[in-house]
Amino acid sequence: METQPKEKSSPHVLIFPCPAQGHVNSMLKLAELLAIQNIYITFLNTKYIHNRLIQFNDDIQALLECYPKLQFKTISDFHSEEKHPGFGERIGDVITSLSLYGKPLLKDIIVSEKISCIILDGIFGDLATDLAAEFGIQLIHFRTISSCCFWAYFCVPKLLECNELPIRGDEDMDRIITNIPGMENILRCRDLPSFCRENKKDHIRLDDVALRTKQSLKANAFILNTFEDLEASVLSQIRIHFPKLYTIGPLHHLLNTTKKSSFPSSFFSKSNFFKVDRTCMAWLDSQPLKSVIYVSFGSTTPMKREEIIEIWHGLLNSKKQFLWVIRPNMVQEKGLLSELEEGTRKEKGLIVGWVPQEEVLSHKAIGAFLTHNGWNSTLESVVCGVPMICWPYFADQQINSRFVSDVWKLGLDMKDVCDRKVVENMVNDVMVNRKEEFVRSAMDIAKLASKSVSPGGSSYNNFQDLIQYIRSTSP
Ligand code: UDP
Repeated sequence: METQPKEKSSPHVLIFPCPAQGHVNSMLKLAELLAIQNIYITFLNTKYIHNRLIQFNDDIQALLECYPKLQFKTISDFHSEEKHPGFGERIGDVITSLSLYGKPLLKDIIVSEKISCIILDGIFGDLATDLAAEFGIQLIHFRTISSCCFWAYFCVPKLLECNELPIRGDEDMDRIITNIPGMENILRCRDLPSFCRENKKDHIRLDDVALRTKQSLKANAFILNTFEDLEASVLSQIRIHFPKLYTIGPLHHLLNTTKKSSFPSSFFSKSNFFKVDRTCMAWLDSQPLKSVIYVSFGSTTPMKREEIIEIWHGLLNSKKQFLWVIRPNMVQEKGLLSELEEGTRKEKGLIVGWVPQEEVLSHKAIGAFLTHNGWNSTLESVVCGVPMICWPYFADQQINSRFVSDVWKLGLDMKDVCDRKVVENMVNDVMVNRKEEFVRSAMDIAKLASKSVSPGGSSYNNFQDLIQYIRSTSP
C-alpha cells in the first residue's frame, strides 16, 4: 500500500529585532517581505517600543489587515517606564537585560505560537541558540549593520593579536589598519568602529562586541542587509566563516519593488519612533531640482551645542537651502531650538522634528544628504543616488563613512572635525564644485542597487533562496 507523503506544515517565523529604530525598521521590512510570501510571522517587540509604534504610526493596524499572517507580540525588557534607558545611547542596558532574562519569554512564544524558525537580531548573541536546539528549529541571525562593519567586529580579536588594537591615543588615529582581510589599507584607526576608541562615546565594551559577533557562528544561517555589488570583497571573506549567508538588501528597496507590483497604494511602510511631520513634502515641492541639502543624524545621535551651531553656520554660509531633522530629544538646551528655527526661517530653510525619510530622499529637490551614516540612512541614500556628507557618531558609522567617501566615492567625510568652514566647503564641493563626479558615482551605485533587487538580481535571488530554506527546514 502506498503511503501519502506527510504534508509539511506552513512555516511560522519569529522575528526579534533589537529595540532600536534602525533595527526595527529593517527587520520589519523583512517581516513584510516574508508575509507577502504567505509565511506566518510573529514580530516581537518590547512593550516600550510597541507603544511607540502604536503612538506614531496611524497605519500600523492597516499593515496587519494587509497581511493576515503577520502578528505583533510584545515582551517586557525588564525596565520600568519611568526609568527606561530608551533606545539611544543606553540601548546597551536593554540588550543586556534581554540577553540575561529574555530566554523564558522567548520560550513561551516559541511554544504558544508553534514557531518553526527564529530570525534573531545577531546583536543578542546566543540568546536563542539553546532554545533553537531544544525545539529542533532553525536559527537565523540577522545583523542590521553594514557588512564591512560586521567584518571589522569579527576581526577584532585578530587586530588585538597583531597589536593593531588598542588605539594608542589621539596621535595614533591616522595609523593604517592592515590586518582585516578584504579591506587591507582602507581603514585608519579613526575609521574603526567607535568601540575601538580610547575615549569612546558609549559604554559598549569591545570584548562584548567581539563575543556577540562570534556567537552568530552558531546560527544555522545568516542574513545581511546589503548587496553583492556593494561589498563584494568583504562578503567573500565573511562567507568563509558563514557559508549560509543571505545578502538580501537593500531591504527597503526589495520591499518597495515587490510592493509596487502587488500593493501600489501602500508604498513605504512605516515604523516611526517619533511623530512624523509631513509639512516638509510641500516645502520640497516648491524647491528647484537637486537644490536642497537634507540633514539628519538618525534616531539616537546626541549632539553638543557647539556641534549644532557649527553645522548650522556652515549650512547658512553655504547659501544652499536645507531641510534639517532635529529630533525632540536631540537638543537639550532650552531656547536653542527656537533660536535655530527662527534664524533658519529667515533664510528660508526648514527645521522639523522627524520626516518620512525614504520619501524625502527620493524627492527630486534633494541634492545631497548630510548624514550620521547609520546603515539604513546610508542604504536609503545609495538607493536614491543622493551624494553624502558624513558626520559619523558611533558604532558602524565611522566605517560606513569611510566606505562612502573613499571606497564608493559617494561624498565627503567630516569625521572628527566639526567646523563651520568645513561644512560650508563640503556642501559646496558636493553640490556645486564636484557635483558631477559625485552624482555620477551615486547614480552608478543606485543602478547596481536596483539591479540587485530586480528579478534575476543577487538580492532578489538570495531572498528566493531564503524563502526556500525557511520552507524546506520547517518541520
Ligand atoms: N528616519 C526617518 N525620519 C527621520 C530620520 C530618520 O524615518 O526624520 C529613519 C531613516 O529612514 C532610517 C532610520 O530612521 O530608516 C534610522 O536608521 P539608521 O540606521 O540610519 O540610524 P539610527 O537611527 O539607527 O542611528
